[in-house]
Amino acid sequence: MKFNYHTHTARCGHATGTDEEYVRCAIEAGYQILGFSDHAPYRSYSNRRCFMDWDQLDDYIDSVEFLKEKYKDQIKIHLGLETEYYPYCREEKTELKEKVEYLMLGQHFSDPMNSQVDYFKQNSEEEILQYGNSVCEALDTDLFDCLCHPDVIMSRQPEFTAACETIAHMIGKKCAEKNVPVEVNVRGIMKGKWRPIEGRACYYPSKEFWKILSQYPLRVIVGIDAHAPEDLLDLESVKDAYRMMEDLHLDFISEPLL
Ligand SMILES: [Zn+2]
Ligand SMILES: [Zn+2]
Repeated sequence: MKFNYHTHTARCGHATGTDEEYVRCAIEAGYQILGFSDHAPYRSYSNRRCFMDWDQLDDYIDSVEFLKEKYKDQIKIHLGLETEYYPYCREEKTELKEKVEYLMLGQHFSDPMNSQVDYFKQNSEEEILQYGNSVCEALDTDLFDCLCHPDVIMSRQPEFTAACETIAHMIGKKCAEKNVPVEVNVRGIMKGKWRPIEGRACYYPSKEFWKILSQYPLRVIVGIDAHAPEDLLDLESVKDAYRMMEDLHLDFISEPLL
């Protein structure tokens, strides 16, 4: 069974293509299940380059529901969202979860209301620990059905530091305890192919990070994190993800999440 639950739409401001093009590419690539999980909006602030606005939410839901029906004989479509978690927006995350079938945690930034840290940049030891703590705090809410790119913090880290090691253990332990699937992110593999960082062939997934995660009894899922319809056609990068998981003896999910 071929499935992908990590798909964006142009509403987030940094993805391209129409919603329908994503569905067509997924069908062409042989997926039986396609989950849309665009970057969720916030009530209190807007960032048109990072996530949709709250007033785009209904259009997103209507569009995915429309495509779900239109293509029901060819592919099963699910409606989800990817989002960060900050304690003060717990209520609105609960509200979002009621509107969709699944919520994925993708902690790309720290709290924008409190000197926001970008986890795609090179981070200090303190910021790395803050990332690990915020992921664990988010998972403690039981709002999330999956943790996307747990190692996003490694995207610009030249070294695998003591803090990286600490948070890999924290996240592995938390995901095992909560039984939350953890994602090997294919977009990271794609990006690593065209943008080596500091001579490293890979961006994320980080082998060092996943070596630690592999010490925990985790359920691991592959997510494309498609930001263009054609991303769904890159089956070579998907193979690389499975190869990495096999090398690390990770127990990957072969049954659909929903
Ligand atoms: Zn994105
Ligand atoms: Zn994503």
